[in-house]
Formats: sequence, C-alpha cells, structure tokens
Amino acid sequence: MSTEGYVIALDQGTTSSRAVLVDHDARMVDFVQRPFTQIYPQPGWVEHNPQEILFSQLGSLTELIARHNLTSDDIAAIGIDNQRETTIVWDPSTGQPIANAIVWQCRRTTDLVNHLCSDPAVSQRIRAKTGLLPDAYFSASKIAWLLRNTPGARDRAEAGELLFGTVDAYLVWVLTGGLVHATDPTNASRTMLYNIHEGRWDEELLDLFGIPASMMPEVRPSSGDFGQTSYPGIPAGIPIAGVAGDQQASLFGQCCFAPGQAKNTYGTGCFLLMHTGTTAVDSTNQLVTTIAASAPGQTQTEYALEGSVFVGGAVMQWMRDELGLIRTAAESESLAREVPDTGGVYVVPAFTGLGAPWWNAEARGTICGITRGTNRSHLVRAGLESIAYQVGDLVHAMEADAGRKIDVLNVDGGASANGMLMQFQADILDRTLHRPQNVETTALGAAYLAGLAQGFWSGTDELSAMRSSDDVFEPQMSRDHASKLLAGWSAAVRRTMA
Ligand code: ADP
Repeated sequence: MSTEGYVIALDQGTTSSRAVLVDHDARMVDFVQRPFTQIYPQPGWVEHNPQEILFSQLGSLTELIARHNLTSDDIAAIGIDNQRETTIVWDPSTGQPIANAIVWQCRRTTDLVNHLCSDPAVSQRIRAKTGLLPDAYFSASKIAWLLRNTPGARDRAEAGELLFGTVDAYLVWVLTGGLVHATDPTNASRTMLYNIHEGRWDEELLDLFGIPASMMPEVRPSSGDFGQTSYPGIPAGIPIAGVAGDQQASLFGQCCFAPGQAKNTYGTGCFLLMHTGTTAVDSTNQLVTTIAASAPGQTQTEYALEGSVFVGGAVMQWMRDELGLIRTAAESESLAREVPDTGGVYVVPAFTGLGAPWWNAEARGTICGITRGTNRSHLVRAGLESIAYQVGDLVHAMEADAGRKIDVLNVDGGASANGMLMQFQADILDRTLHRPQNVETTALGAAYLAGLAQGFWSGTDELSAMRSSDDVFEPQMSRDHASKLLAGWSAAVRRTMA
C-alpha cells in the first residue's frame, strides 16, 4: 500500500457502473465494473431501475475496496462522473424512488416538450437562459412526466416530500446517508432548468414544467464539498469531493482547462467539447452552450460548446451485427488498411437523421460510389472514414461559433484505439491529434476534481505535467488530396439529404 493513497472515481455510465482506483501519478491502478439492466417498456422509451444503478455502483466500490484492503485513510477522496440528464425522483423519508429513472435516451416526453415550448419566444428564452435547445433529452420534461404520471406524485412534490436528482445527486444523497442533496453545475446545466449565466435554478422554467423548487438539489462547485461517506458496508468519513457529468468530466480529464482546448470522445456516438473560458458562447450552428467543470478557486463560471455525432463507433457495430462485414470493431483497422483508399465509396450513416451542422431529421443513410470492384475492405474503410468526416464537420461548426481554431484535438473513447481512424482524422482536419495513454478520461476527470479539492494534487499545472507520453497524430495528407476527399463527402451528404 502506497503511503500516498488513492482517489476513487465512481464512473456511473449508461450501461454499467465502475469504481476506478487512481493513484497519485494519475494511473488507473484497478477498476471493478458492474452492468445493469436496460429497460425498454415501449418503443422509444428507456428506463433504469435506480436501485439497480445504486447497487451496481456500491457493489463495484465495495469490491474494489475489499480487493485492495483499503480503509478510509487510504482514500483521499471520491469523485463521481455520471450519465447526464437521466432523471430520478425519490422520497427522502424512505429513500425509495417513486418510479424508474427516465434515461437521457428516452423520447417519451417529445410531445410534452413540443407542447410546452411551442411558443418561439419560450423556446428562445430557454436557449438564452440554459444554453440548450428545447428537447426531451434534458431532465426538465422527464421530471414533469414523472410528476404527471405517478399517482400522488404531484401532491407529494408540492408538499415538499419528494426530491429530484440526476444520478450524481442520487448517489451523493445515498452515500452521505441522506445528509447532502446536491449536484454540480455541469449536471445542472443539462436539466434545462438552470440559468447558466446567473448560476441558479430558474423560477420561470420550473413553473413552465410544473416543478416545485423544493425538489431541486443545491448546486455546489464540481470540485468541492459533497459531504462524506456514511453508508453501511463502506468505510465512513471519505470525502466526496468531485462531481461532474460524463462529458465535462472527460474534458477535465483531458486537461482541457483553457479556452480553445477541446476533446472528442469516439464512443457509440461522438461528443466534441471545446472549453470557452468564462465566456458562454452562443452557437449559430445549433450546438449547445454548457457549463465546464472548474478547478477549486475558480470564482467565475467556465463554459464549453458541445456538439455530438449521433452515429460514431455505432457504424462499426452496424457493419459487424447487421452486415457481418467484421467480427469485431477492432478488426476494422486491419481490414481498412488492406486498401489505400475507399475507391470512391462514401458511407453516410444518417440512421436517425443528420446532426450539426446539417440538422436534417428526415435524412437516412446512404452508401454511394460503389463499383464492381468495391469489396469489404472498401466498405469498412468508408465506414471508419465516415466517423472522421462527421467529426470534421462538427469541428468546423464549433470553430466558426467560437471564432477560434482548435489547434490540437484531444481524443479518447473506444474507437480512438483505431490508429487508421485517428490518422485519417488528422489528415482531413489538418489538425494534430493527441491521444493520452490513459483514454479513460471520464473517470480520470472525476478523480482529478475530487483530488484537487482535497489537496491530493496541487493544481491543474501538476495534472497537465503528468500527461507526458501522448500518441500524436500529425496531418500527413496533401491538402489537395484532402480537399478532393472532402468534396466527395459533401456530395455524399447532399445526396443523403435529397
Ligand atoms: P460507449 O462508451 O459509447 O459505449 P466506447 O467508448 O466503449 O463506447 O466505444 C465503443 C464504440 O467504439 C463501439 O461503437 C465500437 O463499435 C467502437 N469501437 C471500439 N473499438 C474500435 C476500433 N478499434 N475501431 C473502430 N471502432 C471501434
């Protein structure tokens, strides 16, 4: 056992919960992961059982603690990062949730949002206050739905008998033995109820969605005091000192602390975030403005621009599961390298429409440029390239909004393991890519936030300095060739929208 101790990150994701042990050199020493059930009660609906989330998270934590014989003295702090927007309402007198959690992906409240936000003036005010475009994705309408559709809930909420939280707040509440009901600004900024400029829950929006203010958690700095552990079976008195939503945690874990620094996560979908300092940049490309996690001592709110690609690594899942072109996602790299290019083939994976900067919900996927010579490798390569083209489009939209260039794109996520994809991304973007040795940047971000608050690390300079041996991808393609490829992509996207 190191005398220096550890920080533990609780990495609460959409499909699993993990407890991650991080040492003073920011190494991921070990982790325990527990999946939980995805509940699909109707087409388009997605739920989680909050108790199952809780037990998967607590189970992974206790197993990690037991495996390493840790006591509360060994653990400097606990940090939490979580799936964002997912909504839980519970009764603090019993600790029981009133219903299953409504998951961020759930579309059940689309009509409710369209109805409540049908007035363009309302929609505009939501945008101005929260930085978000009204959508069922965010927590507001999910809370409203639970209050409208759970028998007795509205009365109990109005009597001050119910609490709301995103998953972080629920975990904090349980772990502190019901003492602390709090969230952080990054999670608050995804509820569509939080005024990101004034740093408070917005009365007008709470009224609009019929949500009593008494349900809302206190909003505390992402790196700071969220109480101490007080739960049977877990060492008592460990400070919970960091909380952030997963994407902002990953921005922090990538050491993007300054304006213009950006990261892209290549997972099932892709999430691009650019730090914009203390300026909340308004997007003209329908990207969202969100709050970034700040280090302790930062007195002014820091912001980020965020955009996403709906189908990122998922295009490889599709090629594996539906087309049978590959056996594993990792195999895509060797196959793609068998050919020098796609032979003019483009895949546009607009399975559910196209996002920023195209915004076309009706578009559906296309494969174009196929000839008699097109083979499996060409198709797989075109699938991989489609991820890079979509991220490229998003980067350009974000740069236009922010009025500055992203010099270095920090990358992480499952598909960032693909060297061919990363090189192609650098080539078509004409930007340098940095891939850290530890691509678990989300858990790392939560650990950093908690560790900084407890003085386990001295400051962000120390964190940046620990990040030494990144894999670097420099653009190598001639600009002429890149332009031709990009023109082909634009033509393919136009066909997709036609
Ligand atoms: P998530 O957190 O969204 O579940 P991950 O970060 O675990 O996703 O990444 C998994 C995604 O990345 C899957 O969609 C998978 O198809 C894709 N992927 C994983 N490894 C590779 C690879 N070597 N090349 C291309 N895609 C990959």
